[in-house]
Amino acid sequence: MKLLYAWLLTSYINCNQITVYVCDSKYATRYHYKSDCRGLSNCKHRIISIPLDKATATRTLCMWER
Ligand SMILES: [Zn+2]
Repeated sequence: MKLLYAWLLTSYINCNQITVYVCDSKYATRYHYKSDCRGLSNCKHRIISIPLDKATATRTLCMWER
């Protein structure tokens, strides 16, 4: 919960920063520009938004949005 608050605060400060959507699962390896992407539709966990630079560090762009 503390972590969640931290990134919320970070994205509030950097309000012009691009955020992307990810499935909040340790097995998810993709990030998405659209929250309604078909790649996220089979996410069994929460869908969260994170800054693009954080997403690219650990994930690759979804195959549907290339
Ligand atoms: Zn996608």
